[in-house]
Amino acid sequence: MENLDNEEEEQGSLLSQEPYDCAFCGEENEVGVDRSGARVQRFTEDCAVCCRPNLLSITIQHDNSVEILAEQEYEA
Ligand SMILES: [Zn+2]
Repeated sequence: MENLDNEEEEQGSLLSQEPYDCAFCGEENEVGVDRSGARVQRFTEDCAVCCRPNLLSITIQHDNSVEILAEQEYEA
């Protein structure tokens, strides 16, 4: 599934794919961020490479840029 000529963000679209580095293996992943949602979002995503769970803390800045912190999620 290649969709590489989608670099430009569509106007009016508040959903974008943002990169983050896996907290376990360091490989780059992408996560869909909904800018129309909460300013701070936390959820878990499995790494596409090593399949381990990253706890993502996503912060949407005032200028609509996106900051993503990936942490290792441990099972309770
Ligand atoms: Zn990984």
